[in-house]
Amino acid sequence: MAIAKRKFDSLVIGAGGGGLRAALQLSRAEATVAVVSKVFPTRSHTVAAQGGMNAALANVLPDNWHWHMYDTVKGSDYLGDQDAIEYMCRAASHCVIELEHSGVPFSRLDNGKIYQRPFGGQSQNFGGDQAARTCAAADRTGHAILHALYQQNIRAKTHFFDEYFAVDLLKDDEGYVLGALVLDIETGEPLIIEAKTTLLATGGVGQLFRTNTNARINTGDGMAMALRAGIPVQDMEFFQFHPTGIAGKGMLITEGVRGEGGYLINKDGERFMERYAPHARDLASRDIVSRAIAIEVREGRGCGPRGDHVLLKLDHLGADVIHKRLPGIRETAITFVHVDPVDTPIPVFPTAHYTMGGIPTNRFGQVVAPLGQLVEEPVPGLYAAGECACVSVHGANRLGGNSLLDIIVFGRAAGNHIIGYLQENHYHRPLHADSVDRGMQRLARWDQQGDGESVDNLRMELQREMENHCGVFRTAEVLQDGVVKIKAIEQRLQHARIKDHSKIFNTARIEAMELENMVDLALATVISAQARQESRGAHSRVDFPERDDVHWMKHTLFFKEGYKLDYKPVRTKPLSVDSFPPQKRVY
Ligand SMILES: Cc1cc2nc3c(=O)[nH]c(=O)nc-3n(C[C@H](O)[C@H](O)[C@H](O)COP(=O)(O)OP(=O)(O)OC[C@H]3O[C@@H](n4cnc5c(N)ncnc54)[C@H](O)[C@@H]3O)c2cc1C
Repeated sequence: MAIAKRKFDSLVIGAGGGGLRAALQLSRAEATVAVVSKVFPTRSHTVAAQGGMNAALANVLPDNWHWHMYDTVKGSDYLGDQDAIEYMCRAASHCVIELEHSGVPFSRLDNGKIYQRPFGGQSQNFGGDQAARTCAAADRTGHAILHALYQQNIRAKTHFFDEYFAVDLLKDDEGYVLGALVLDIETGEPLIIEAKTTLLATGGVGQLFRTNTNARINTGDGMAMALRAGIPVQDMEFFQFHPTGIAGKGMLITEGVRGEGGYLINKDGERFMERYAPHARDLASRDIVSRAIAIEVREGRGCGPRGDHVLLKLDHLGADVIHKRLPGIRETAITFVHVDPVDTPIPVFPTAHYTMGGIPTNRFGQVVAPLGQLVEEPVPGLYAAGECACVSVHGANRLGGNSLLDIIVFGRAAGNHIIGYLQENHYHRPLHADSVDRGMQRLARWDQQGDGESVDNLRMELQREMENHCGVFRTAEVLQDGVVKIKAIEQRLQHARIKDHSKIFNTARIEAMELENMVDLALATVISAQARQESRGAHSRVDFPERDDVHWMKHTLFFKEGYKLDYKPVRTKPLSVDSFPPQKRVY
């Protein structure tokens, strides 16, 4: 079968903030750029980001990038790479101003400067008083950023393939990545997109867990594509559980609520965070607040008839502040729990939120991997940015407001590096037919109709097992059981079939391929978690409650072949300042 082909200088897979920021850099430099997205670009998950983006603008309280760097290293529980963290924190203010000039309508202070709110884990002067570092457009910051970037890309003539699903990367025998095989979701027709460089910006994999804040599209497709191409994924055991998801449902109530002065109470009306983080209280970092809520509930101080949640109180802020700064949150609470936060507290419980791990990259967005040799090297032609990448600025725990920053800073950096690559690589390398075969076989596998296990049921089972076996608290036995159960789901998926096979919109085929991706990433997560015998950041082992810097201050690499694990050192040396050595993490 002859497959249609298109050629571009650069292919960007993913139209969230990370992909669109990179594409904009490239289109403005006159490269021909294709952006592929399985949903219409402005429906990408960045649109859901609420609270804001960190930058040490010092508009509200004194601040500088070095304090931001310190907070990020500490927040990462010393697993973040300090060269990348320094780079990100230094670039932050410039990137916010660039966004403002691109049309992002940030909220304003009375003096006209960009409004900044306090977020968890932020401090002045290396661990001192609370800082206010998060630049916000009310509680719809991601929406504002994504729409501005999309409009700028249209203006710069970026070419969009909307509602196309990327199936697999295309590679040659020398390891160069030459584009991707994609599927037109509407027609079911495959398409080869050849490109001199390919950037993965496909977002996170929050759908691994039953209760989560993520959109249904967040199935980790780019990470799984990398795994199938022989590239490992890094630090997957570190999955962030956000403390304040709507109890039992998962939708996010932004940390911005606590930044504006909201606080958590248990069934006795006690402001319990004072016991867990006497200094930062409700604005301690997310791993700490999530664990505190889980302990309150476990020890019988939860609220409601089943005692299974705590309450987030913000009625004392007054209707004016809630209407002006948190309108989306009020709407979410009214819609999903029929509670108006202007007068009633919101029931909350930790919910799966953010993938700290991902495709290993350096700070230029190049994917780096030890392919066949001991030392890791850039994979020629392949880049990654955003939540699917692990650069690693978040280490074991991401600070709120640092992800929008990450996607913009490293989307931009990847774009800049690709421009240099294109200046040295003028021609497309030849693409051999056999490199397309693997992706076509994957497609053909889901062309078969018939009886077998339902993809939908397997997906729900996977999410339930991940929640039960790889949640906020972990032990060797529970994780081992999880590995066995997820390997069994992997086996059963081989025999799953699509029953109602409609070629129109192809949703069944897409969901089957998404489940294949999720199973690979579930195994990466649970196997990496089982091996790491310490507690660090979001990875909390009841049987190994302490952080162990002697044995475990290193990044995990998981390879699909043979479920193999390897490790590599943390880059503790920053670019220009002294490194922050590991310390006990107190808030
Ligand atoms: C509810 C919520 C609120 C948040 N609030 C904040 C906040 O206030 N501040 C902050 O810093 N961070 C926040 N975050 C985190 C932050 O929003 C995300 O980490 C970030 O937006 C991810 O951006 P991205 O560009 O990496 O991916 P996304 O925005 O998720 O985009 C992924 C893109 O990849 C495409 N894609 C995926 N797979 C395929 C495929 N197979 N084929 C084709 N296309 C594909 C999708 O269509 C989409 O275009 C929040 C997250 C959530 C869930």
